[in-house]
Amino acid sequence: MKQFQFIYQNPNQFRKEMVKIKQWRKSRVLFGTVFQIFSESLDKDLLTEVCQVIEQEMPSAVYMGCSSNGNILEGQVETEIVIICTIMEYPSTHMEIVQMPLTAETDISTVQALSAMIDERPWVKAVEMLVTIRGMSMTGFCQELEKLNPEIQIFGGGAFSSDMANAACVFSKAGEYSTNSVVFLLMGGEDLHITTMHVTGWKPLGKKFLVTRAEGSILYELDGKPAYDAYYKYLNINNDEHFFANTLEFPFFYEHNGMNILRAPVSSNNDGSLTMTSDIEENVVARMAYGDPWTILEHIRRSSEKIHQFQPDFIRVYSCAARRTFWGMDEISKETQPFQSIAPTSGFYTSGEFLRTNGYVNQHNVTLVVAAIREGEPMQDENSTEFEMYQEQFSGKVSMINRLATFIEAATEELEEANQKLEFMAVSDGLTQLYNRREIERRIKEKLNECNRHQNKNMCLIMMDIDNFKQVNDTYGHKEGDNVIIGLSTLLREGIKVHNPDASAGRWGGEEFMLLLEYPLDYAKKAAEHLRQDFEAIAFENGVGHRTVSVGVTEFIHGEDSDALCIRVDKALYEAKEAGKNRVVVL
Ligand code: GH3
Ligand code: MG
Ligand code: MG
Repeated sequence: MKQFQFIYQNPNQFRKEMVKIKQWRKSRVLFGTVFQIFSESLDKDLLTEVCQVIEQEMPSAVYMGCSSNGNILEGQVETEIVIICTIMEYPSTHMEIVQMPLTAETDISTVQALSAMIDERPWVKAVEMLVTIRGMSMTGFCQELEKLNPEIQIFGGGAFSSDMANAACVFSKAGEYSTNSVVFLLMGGEDLHITTMHVTGWKPLGKKFLVTRAEGSILYELDGKPAYDAYYKYLNINNDEHFFANTLEFPFFYEHNGMNILRAPVSSNNDGSLTMTSDIEENVVARMAYGDPWTILEHIRRSSEKIHQFQPDFIRVYSCAARRTFWGMDEISKETQPFQSIAPTSGFYTSGEFLRTNGYVNQHNVTLVVAAIREGEPMQDENSTEFEMYQEQFSGKVSMINRLATFIEAATEELEEANQKLEFMAVSDGLTQLYNRREIERRIKEKLNECNRHQNKNMCLIMMDIDNFKQVNDTYGHKEGDNVIIGLSTLLREGIKVHNPDASAGRWGGEEFMLLLEYPLDYAKKAAEHLRQDFEAIAFENGVGHRTVSVGVTEFIHGEDSDALCIRVDKALYEAKEAGKNRVVVL
């Protein structure tokens, strides 16, 4: 594969470039040419002019392009329009461009149409795509893409528009300049080889937050508090005009499809919610991440080594616009230039990066998606050296931020472990490891409130008291008494695990226990009877032998409070004792 990369200045200059390409082509047998055009300008007339030159000078070539937040040409950031001309050298290599509508209504049908096309083109190995996102949720689109043959690689980027008035655009030989479309480049053939990866370089930073409320790209609450509070409390970031730039160094990480996905806040809203760069899931554990140049470049170096081994003909980079802001104009090329030392590297700064990994199609943010492409086998170059990158800047050095972040990470982990132990101790009973009285009471109240809100919920209590327990203590000693208590609590814990994992078991007092079940009365009655029998079947050691329990069972009555419920189950237990013990009474 041969690539020509250059900037676009005007039609005449482009025609001259075309002459060079045509001269190169003349002396060879070649099999198709694709132009890719990345433009920071949204000017429709200008982009049409570029396309017209291709149409006129090379009618057999195909082209695709989009608006960007800056382009990458030979590994360097470039603000002018960038043109990349890729020429296939193997007869087996195919490339085909398709453009389809992309709106919230058409996202699924578009992918279905793509899927139908791929069914008819068994050569397809990869799909590169340029999409207009414009605040749209891409979750459905990505999920639909996951249905494609898992062997097919998918990567691409979201077109960008810094101009709020004008939406980002895509265009191609297969369609018009459009603000709501996707352009797919299908590529494949037995001699075409593609490897993809994503690089962030951002690292998680200590504390975990639970996303307690999120909808689409709006992150409302972390740990039940307005999401903005986390940025203010932990990073002292104010809600002012610098919010985006300040939070960019600390986006959120969360695990999705088995990998860490980054989401950066775009803005903070009056209600304390944050608008994120794209969809964030509810009920996931999110962590803040930090980016520092050293760590990022170290990641780039590791990725570059892998790509170097692959020996690509060229490299495509889809890098997040946020990374450009993070690095600033003078330094941004530091993270793309290393790729250029491997193979011609081009791409653009996106509004979202897409990559299929392990079958899943993820929409990334703040990430650099890299696709390395090669025709034929890698060259067995005797002289090929190991990949090297700014070695002198790296060797042995780790940034101060990196070390501090490692410190915070380790300290947070220790604290979390200690907290988990404390939390468990606060709610559990030492002897039985069941919930303590306070916790089981809290759970009863919580469940009761839920049942009072929803008519159709079931809730029952089972209360137990070991019969003639004093006698065990008096005859065999306190230790044997403890064993009997442990015997019953083990039975309760095991029984719950098997029959009703949502149930809660607690120690109510000395040898009294309370079970909270989410099942109707007839089930609770059966469960109580089973437990009674199972306990009676246990033969305790050291002469204690078989013991029995009395059991009270009752069902929640809509509208009542927890006192009324507990008094009734206690009464049921009392009646079981009065009636001769070792029995179940339902009230
Ligand atoms: P009943 O059949 O009427 O329930 O008779 P009982 O002997 O079980 O009655 P009571 O409730 O009076 O006895 C409970 C005894 O349990 C009294 C107390 O010393 C003992 N106890 C309370 N907690 C523990 C404990 O943690 N370990 C041991 N070994 N005994 C305990
Ligand atoms: Mg008792
Ligand atoms: Mg008792």
